[in-house]
Amino acid sequence: MKKTGTYNIRGNQCGKEKILLALLPFWTPLIPPQGISRIKGFLRKYGYRVKTVDVNLEDDFRKLYDKYFNTLRQYIPEHKRGNFYNIGNDVWREHMMAHINYEDEKKYFQLVKILVYKVFYCNLDDARVLELEYFVTEFYSKMEYYFLNLLDKEKPDVLGISVYRDTLPASLFAFKLAKKRYPRIKTIMGGGIFISQLSPNSPNFNFFREKTERFIDKIIIGEGELPFLKFLQGRLPESQRVFTKHDVNGETLGFTPVDMFDFSDFNPNHYSYLAAQGSSSCPNQCSFCNVTSFYGEFKKKNPRQTVEEMIELFQKYGTQLFYMLDALVNEVVFDIAEEFIKSGVSLYWDGYFRVDDACSRENALLWRR
Ligand code: SF4
Repeated sequence: MKKTGTYNIRGNQCGKEKILLALLPFWTPLIPPQGISRIKGFLRKYGYRVKTVDVNLEDDFRKLYDKYFNTLRQYIPEHKRGNFYNIGNDVWREHMMAHINYEDEKKYFQLVKILVYKVFYCNLDDARVLELEYFVTEFYSKMEYYFLNLLDKEKPDVLGISVYRDTLPASLFAFKLAKKRYPRIKTIMGGGIFISQLSPNSPNFNFFREKTERFIDKIIIGEGELPFLKFLQGRLPESQRVFTKHDVNGETLGFTPVDMFDFSDFNPNHYSYLAAQGSSSCPNQCSFCNVTSFYGEFKKKNPRQTVEEMIELFQKYGTQLFYMLDALVNEVVFDIAEEFIKSGVSLYWDGYFRVDDACSRENALLWRR
């Protein structure tokens, strides 16, 4: 008999799944997670129960990260350290990734030595690799304990993880763990990694798809809200694994009104900044960059709306510092500055900026006001 009405992913009519959305380490917690807060706000309007978690706020993981870097630092002569915490991140991330994939310990140790050599031009012996290895093992052991407790407590039907380059190893580990322990949980991956290292145009993407087939059920590329909703409603083909805006007739939600973010699971005092956005995509068309192909044509938000939303957030949470999510703020900086002057409210905001507009005293004075 043909089904009518709205069905969920389990084939039950109108049942509402519990959804757990997470951001895993390591992502510097400067602003409350935007992507998962926006999806939460959107899905809650449709009656779904959603829990959002930022695992980066867990002190234990951060401490291990610090210990790893403090140890690695001792092995690298000062003149070779360079921008140590920046380039050292490549070693840490790739070491974390190698740890969850290795089969032969000897080759694995060799690989860690190569990673360190490629970044710092230093040779490590086995004893030093073993010391670094201790922190990585400890990280995954704590992550296993933490994540299984989380799954046990939240009992989600769907697990969604928003993934970026530096959160990929921990995210893959969590997906594998969830699927192994609770095969019934549907796992969905999205996030900014799909506009960079795992862009669908990159050779990495197909390799990644094959390697993760057993533990990542669905991949959402681009704005996640509408495909996620359609998936939950059972309106996307079960046999398809990768979804984009083409699966929702090219529709996007566009600029997010400030009340659409649901930050209720986060304490804004744990973050240095709040976030705001004055435009989407980028007016430039650099051929090597995925921003325009991912976010489509450049669009500016009404600057008054941008400023009103920032003031609303400031009044609600008391944070005066804002981080702008625009690809570049050059196109909006003048209008927003004018609107702030009219509003009489003082806030501080930071973002990516092409420096040529700054070569003018008048511009700098306007922004300062
Ligand atoms: S200016 Fe930056 S964000 Fe814009 S298209 Fe070029 S590289 Fe991408």
